[in-house]
Amino acid sequence: MSEVNLRPYQTDAVERILSALERGSVAFQSPTGSGKTLVALEVMRRLGASSAFTRTLSQYEPWEREARRLGLMIGGLAGKDRFCLRPVMKGDGKSIRITRCFSCPLAFNSYDRSRVQELGVVGFLSSLRDKDECGYGWLRFLDADVYLYTYPYFFFYRKMVRGNALLVFDEAHNLVNVGDMVGVEITADRLRAIRRDYEGTDAHETVSSALDAVESWALHGAASGRRPPDAEEFGLEAVEDHRISSVFHALSKVGHPAYRVYARPDGVSIRLIDPAEELSKLNEEKWLMMSGTLPSEGYMRRVWGLQDFQVVDVRPYRMKFSYFWDRDLSTRLAERKSARSGYVRAVSKLKGKGLTLVLTPSYEVASWFKGIADYVESRESASSDVPREGLVVAVARGKLSEGVEFVEDGRSLIKRVVIVGIPYPNVGDPYVRDEVEFLSKKLGSRSRWFLLREDALLTIRQAMGRAIRNQEDSAEVYFLDRRAGPFLRRLGLNPKRVRLVDL
Ligand code: SF4
Repeated sequence: MSEVNLRPYQTDAVERILSALERGSVAFQSPTGSGKTLVALEVMRRLGASSAFTRTLSQYEPWEREARRLGLMIGGLAGKDRFCLRPVMKGDGKSIRITRCFSCPLAFNSYDRSRVQELGVVGFLSSLRDKDECGYGWLRFLDADVYLYTYPYFFFYRKMVRGNALLVFDEAHNLVNVGDMVGVEITADRLRAIRRDYEGTDAHETVSSALDAVESWALHGAASGRRPPDAEEFGLEAVEDHRISSVFHALSKVGHPAYRVYARPDGVSIRLIDPAEELSKLNEEKWLMMSGTLPSEGYMRRVWGLQDFQVVDVRPYRMKFSYFWDRDLSTRLAERKSARSGYVRAVSKLKGKGLTLVLTPSYEVASWFKGIADYVESRESASSDVPREGLVVAVARGKLSEGVEFVEDGRSLIKRVVIVGIPYPNVGDPYVRDEVEFLSKKLGSRSRWFLLREDALLTIRQAMGRAIRNQEDSAEVYFLDRRAGPFLRRLGLNPKRVRLVDL
């Protein structure tokens, strides 16, 4: 039974989304703290068995909490490689560990569904694992109102998804990184680690011969243009290990114009350079993408290849930002060296009460602030080390600017966001260069700047969004680059009216 009264703007959003879904799919944009999850769940309730995809397993929790409030039955799945117990079976004097559910006695266990409702998908599987039981096989076939999965279930295990009336993508701006989700690095070390995991198991021979073939191709065959091995040659379907599925998914794309293979000293990496290759698959589905910072509609249509959708933009509160612009500075390559001291001086003045998040376009620029900042992100940074106040320097598209939450009691700790330079993607990186060149050819020569600007704008909006997690939050935003004008306009500001500062 539902114990929720939706707010009027949420009820309005539900009706607008349902009406738009009659004609196609929906991009639903609304700020953090506005109750998007609740709105999406109400839509799912009205449409019947649907699925929500989150970026990480920890993001299941808010969905489960809100689903309980709406009285919806929770189902879904979490990666088998994380929960499989590999029980030991004895026979013919030999003992072997089982990794394939069809031959595992634990696959026939049955549980009370109220435990999933109470503990959630991950909590339920973890609680059993702690008692040497396995609920994976049972959970896989459990009927529910809403099903929870992580993004890879859409890209790699679409057939396992059970709620198909509507596919909801939580924090859908993350789909900008679809290339990272479906791309892989195939190195001898990585393959060795997987092989080791299967020693003494029922899948050892299958996995070893498959990975031997992959290794030989990655180290010798790729450079000579040899055809990569195919998963079907090895009968890997029942292994259900994401590390292996993602490798074979990528191998199946070698030679496809939307994918590129990059040599590494110890193997290869296979990357997607055309997001539409994967994302346009959504045109065959009914989907709802939700985020506080979706890319522009034009980007979603042109770059992601999405069709037949409408944008539903719901803004129940005004984001309280004050904007400042220092036009004397620039990280343009020609000025970069001389600009360094000016930037260090400017940023040091922006230290204050609470947290100042400084966004830089590269690790090199981030390192300028080592003497004055409380924390500077590096490639090795671990998110747990980051302080909760002071001056924190993050690199665009790094772990800090996207993955770490600076929130306490629902309020953002960030009081100032400082955008150093313009966070354009690094076209010096061969992968970024290939992606931009491929898309420029596909979409027309003028699209190069469109792509770079959209990418930078999304990065800026995400950094700013980190400072507003609740309608009470407010923050100052500093643009420290004379090229910021077009970005201010895209944020709905008149650059002539933005307060100029000389830091
Ligand atoms: S049922 Fe499947 S996931 Fe569970 S222990 Fe057995 S093989 Fe592993």
